[in-house]
Formats: sequence, structure tokens, C-alpha cells
Amino acid sequence: MNTRYAKSIAALERSRKTLAGGVSSNVRAGDKPFPLFFDHGAGSRLWDIDGNEYIDYVLGRGPLFLGHTYQAVIDATCKQLQRGQIYAAQHELEYELSERVSRIIPCAELVRFGISGSEAVHGALRLARAATGRQTIIKFEGQYHGWLDNILYSLAPDPGVAGDALSPATLAESNGQFSGADSHLIVLPWNNLAVLEEYLSRHGNTIAAIITEPVMCNTAVIAPQPGFLEALRTLCNGYGIVLIFDEVITGFRLSLAGAQGRFNIVPDLTIFGKAIANGMPISCLAGKEKYMGLIAAGKVGHGGTYNSIPPACAGAIANLDALEANNGEVYRTVEHTGTQLMNGIRAIGARLEVPIVVQGYGAIFYVGFPLSGEQTVYDYRSSLTMNNELYTAFVSAMVDRGVRIIPRGNWFLSAAHTEADVESSLAAVEAALTEAVVPAL
Ligand code: PMP
Repeated sequence: MNTRYAKSIAALERSRKTLAGGVSSNVRAGDKPFPLFFDHGAGSRLWDIDGNEYIDYVLGRGPLFLGHTYQAVIDATCKQLQRGQIYAAQHELEYELSERVSRIIPCAELVRFGISGSEAVHGALRLARAATGRQTIIKFEGQYHGWLDNILYSLAPDPGVAGDALSPATLAESNGQFSGADSHLIVLPWNNLAVLEEYLSRHGNTIAAIITEPVMCNTAVIAPQPGFLEALRTLCNGYGIVLIFDEVITGFRLSLAGAQGRFNIVPDLTIFGKAIANGMPISCLAGKEKYMGLIAAGKVGHGGTYNSIPPACAGAIANLDALEANNGEVYRTVEHTGTQLMNGIRAIGARLEVPIVVQGYGAIFYVGFPLSGEQTVYDYRSSLTMNNELYTAFVSAMVDRGVRIIPRGNWFLSAAHTEADVESSLAAVEAALTEAVVPAL
């Protein structure tokens, strides 16, 4: 028995008896060394129930751009909680928040709030189909847009059955998905303009929407090839296709106006979640009046008991106050700290002669060990050249050393992470590489 995690081990055993799998989201079951139980968090730090302290690069899998328990968000949320939790009616924080989102995000002429990214994606797909009268959606292999039936395909297809790299099979991620749910879904390789152009030249007039993460965060934090997003915009204009940017991870993280702000591309519809409220549960479906107006007119259904609950709106507004303060200083801080960390990992890899891929941005980046000499990952198929088993061993070694990272390779940064955190983390990287990776090479 590993005594470092004795309480977590016992808690997981107890939990599994009544909570399916001992976790509330399947992805957490894959945490290494196993799903730990946490007690509290502050800033860049988390503490588990055994009292172990971690520098946290998971950050709720994205929401905590300002770090754990950011005081102004907590205060605003608690103040509102004392006044009322839910009205199932309008309140002033709602339009205060929609006005803010609309001012910050160029395409957000109209906005609706929900709880999860998955349901906001669902709304965007429904709007696109209603607006165009077409059925088919294009998504890209290796991207994730939530766990609902009609889009949960080809996130991480088994290479043995994934089909041709240039025309991938559409593969369900879960048993029990409605058998016809993919009948209007096309999966294409990301970052490959020639394939997309060719497909659209034959079928462009039947496509309702192209949905994409503008940076492919769910596979290796892959940046768009120069011109790829611009070309998506132009092609969608040409064929009358609705361009949907799923910014659940990149929103309010890659810049105040997300990836669309960073790359200066205006989609038709967009989805935010996670970093919009630094940990409070709220998502946002936003876009051009031409599309969102269908919801406004009651022609397209959108609902939810908990939509825009006042405490979450209050937390989101306080969060946006902090993100906008001093002309976006937090973004410069995070970019600086994250870049230091990325460069530090690269330097240690070079010194220890461990081939290592580090790619992405200060605010979110990817680390992986290539099986071959590949030094970058540019789409889902190229991500298969990474040694996941070795990375998993590295993750466990990092967690044992008090640095919390997730097995899929993504590292999230927050404005609460300091240069001292970076130094301690790099010491852990060096030790974990030396002990868990070098011997396996
Ligand atoms: N889209 C993207 C790009 C995501 O990364 C996620 C979740 N990680 C979702 C949608 C789904 O969001 P949620 O988990 O809030 O339903």
C-alpha cells in the first residue's frame, strides 16, 4: 500500500460502492497514479486528503485561469448566494454579463448562458441546422465537443479502425450512442486545407456547419497552420456554411477574446465555458444576430432550469473584471510564466537527451515523448507517434513529487503561478525524467 495516498485509496474504495466508477466524469477515472481525493485549493496549489500539496497544472481542466479560490470571484459569488440562488426569471446580472461578453467578443451580437459546454455545442449545432435547412456537420478528427450523442465521435479513434487519414471513419466514442446519430456527421483531418477544399467542392452546398476548436487543445494543443482558420472563414462564406468556433478551452484563456481574438477571425457562432467564470458553472452560446435571432424569436429551442443562475453570473462578472484589469495584465503574466516553463522543460529534455515535444502557448501547452524523431504534432494521426505509456509513467512520477498534471499531456497555467512555482516544477520535471523516463529509453 502506498502510504503517501492512504486516505485517497480508502476513499476511492468507499466511493466506488455507490458512485459509478468512483468518479463523476469518465475522464477522471484515467487520472494517475489513480483518481486522488482533494481537500482544498488556493492560488496555484491544491491539497489532497492525505495532506500532500501540489502545484496544480490541471486547474479544473481549464476553468481556473486566475487560480483556485480567486478571492474576488468567491466574494461576488457568495454575496449573490446570500441574496438568492435561483429565480427562474430574469435578473440584472444576466444582461450585465451578456453586455460584457458582447463587448469583448466580436461575433457575440447575441448571447445565451447555460451550464456546460456540451449543451452549448448542442445549441450551436441546432441553430446551424435551423438556419441553413441543411443537416450535415463537419467536425475534425481528434477534437472534442462534449459528450452528447450527435457529436461524440472520433475524439481518439483506435488507429486500427480509424480508416484512411485523409477520410477518417466516423467512430462513436461510447456504447449506446443512438445508431443514427452520426448519419449527418463528417469527420475530416484538421489543418488539412486541401482535403477540406476537395470535400466541399463536392458537398459544400449540403453542409450546415463546420465546428472546430480553433486551437486543437483536445489533441496535443495543436496550433492552426498559418492561413487555416482564415481559409475556413472564406470557405464557409462561399458555401453558406455556419462556422462554429468551440472555445470551451481557448475562450478567455488564449486572449481575453479567446482564439478568435488572438487569430483575428470572426466565426458565426461560438461556445465558451470554463475560463469565463474561473470555476463557477456557466457556459455561453454566442453569435451573430442572424443565427441567435432564431432563439430570440422562439423558433429554435433553448432552455435549462439553471441557465444563468445569479451566483454564477456574479462570479463570471467578477472574473471578467479581473481579466480586463490593467489592460489584460493577467494574460501577459500567464504567457510569461508558461513560456518559461515550456522552455525549461525543453532545456531539461535536451540536457538529459530525452526527445520531448513541448508545443502550444503559455496559457496551455502540451508535453509528449515522441516514439520516432517527430518534433511536432500537427493533427490527430501525428499525435499517434507519441509514447503515451511513457508519458503516463512520467505523470505518476510528477504527482508523487507534488506537481499535478493530467495523462493526456495538456498543462494549464494560471495567473497565480509564480516564477518560484516554475522553478519547483522544473526540479520535479528533472527528477521525474531521470527516474521514470531515462531508464525506459
Ligand atoms: N468543447 C471543448 C473544446 C471541450 O474541451 C469541452 C470539455 N473539455 C467541451 C466542449 C464540453 O464542455 P463541458 O465539459 O462543460 O460539457
